[in-house]
Amino acid sequence: MKRLESFKPSKQSSTYAPHTAALMWPDGGYEVALVYLAQSIDGYVSLIPQDDPETGPVDGAVGSPGIGQLVQGFRVLLNGRTGRLDRTQLDSWARYTAAQVGWCLDHEAMAYDCGHGVGKIRAEAEA
Ligand SMILES: [Zn+2]
Repeated sequence: MKRLESFKPSKQSSTYAPHTAALMWPDGGYEVALVYLAQSIDGYVSLIPQDDPETGPVDGAVGSPGIGQLVQGFRVLLNGRTGRLDRTQLDSWARYTAAQVGWCLDHEAMAYDCGHGVGKIRAEAEA
């Protein structure tokens, strides 16, 4: 399970230093809101038992659709201001996290309900 802090531009990128600084010391505006929201989602995901890709959610995984919807909303916020944060990295985190909880961003549904399958969306998010 990768967390928000794992998603950084390459060190050669001009956005590496500002993005990394914003993750560690978010300013009081949009950076704080986005970083804390993503970290809260990461924290919740770490508490959810992993779903079985073949059979769907395991007991206790009922929070997964809620997390999927939060991530869906997080991606909408990326259309607004992000401060020094690199939108591409935040979106990569969002796609990865949605896939980890089995949420299909295309259909706004659990992947075992929409027919995409959790394995497929996880493979796409890792690509
Ligand atoms: Zn789907």
